[in-house]
Amino acid sequence: MVPDEARKRQGEKMKRFKGEKCWNWKGDNVGYGGRHRRIIRIKGSPKGFICSCGKKAIHWSNINHKYSLNPDDYIARCMSCHERYDFKMGFRHHKK
Ligand SMILES: [Zn+2]
Repeated sequence: MVPDEARKRQGEKMKRFKGEKCWNWKGDNVGYGGRHRRIIRIKGSPKGFICSCGKKAIHWSNINHKYSLNPDDYIARCMSCHERYDFKMGFRHHKK
């Protein structure tokens, strides 16, 4: 057992883990993140789905912003389509 070696390996593992889990929520408030996590628990991660524009989806976009627990109310969208959709529907407002 070489403690230094073990600690170094552990550190590298942590670094890699952090990088994968980095969500980078730009401009989203805390409440939104909580609701988003809830639907991820139901539907799973939107990653692996493809947005209607052909890009990789990263969010579940709620079609009516009621945040129901009905999985059919959510569509996998990429960041830009999600934001565009929400602005179009009046769900979000420009922040200063
Ligand atoms: Zn898109």
